[in-house]
Amino acid sequence: MRIHRSFPFFLILAWLAACNPVAGTPSQAEAQPSPFVPVDSPPTSTILPFISPTPASSETPTLVPATPVPPIDTMRYAQNCDAVDRIPDVYERQFALEQMEFPTELSAEAQARLLFPVLVRPSCNMRTGNTPQAIVLHATRGGLVASISEFQERDKSSAHYMIDRDGQVYQLAPEGLVAFHVTCCLGAGGKVNEDYTQSIGIELVNKLYVNPDGFDGPIFEDYLESFGYRYWEDYPEAQIASLVILVEDITARWGIPLDKVIGHYQVNDNTDPGPALNLFWRRNGNPSRPPIFNLP
Ligand SMILES: [Zn+2]
Repeated sequence: MRIHRSFPFFLILAWLAACNPVAGTPSQAEAQPSPFVPVDSPPTSTILPFISPTPASSETPTLVPATPVPPIDTMRYAQNCDAVDRIPDVYERQFALEQMEFPTELSAEAQARLLFPVLVRPSCNMRTGNTPQAIVLHATRGGLVASISEFQERDKSSAHYMIDRDGQVYQLAPEGLVAFHVTCCLGAGGKVNEDYTQSIGIELVNKLYVNPDGFDGPIFEDYLESFGYRYWEDYPEAQIASLVILVEDITARWGIPLDKVIGHYQVNDNTDPGPALNLFWRRNGNPSRPPIFNLP
């Protein structure tokens, strides 16, 4: 089988380069027919009722819409992923994955407010059919490199954005695709099952609960142990500042009410992002953090 591998692989790379929206020069590969079958049409969009514990009201504000950004061809992205996921060699697959870099969808205004330019790390753990109606916030538990690496492995979880402790923002999947960030279980064939499709996932690099004797970062102490633990890694100012910029931009572009920005702990039994973060939620940490956003 190895004798056949190099030929289709180069075809895939040439085709990916031709499809890359940031590649400006035409390629001979464009004239060649695609070796891949088109992906299916996106499924009908539905949002499960319990993704938001409180129904949105007409009084819930949405932020002023930002400048529209050019849409990413999500069907093309999914086709590229189909091709990438058929590459058996892990290193060749990773190389092809990196060729799928796409322009970040954050508005120019949002990018100008960030400390660093957004970095894109494509993930293929997604499927078509996302019309975001909510934002779900997470903590990675692991470090930045390991977390991005996991999101780029085949058939693992994923999220749309990740924010490092220093405020650096990474985009991992186009917003119009479903990322696997609120999963609960494995579905058919052992693949991650994603039921809660209509949302954007943002991961904050954070260990969550920590042992204060072996952790030298900032600690938030929850005297009530409302999430089962007392000591939590705190979120640095730079990370929160980037999170605010992302939330304001994404909610404005998609028309998402602020009360649909929720923590993963509000979706299922997870504890993230923990008591050290309070966007505007009713937290029972002690002392509770002042809210970052104000709801009426
Ligand atoms: Zn989570």
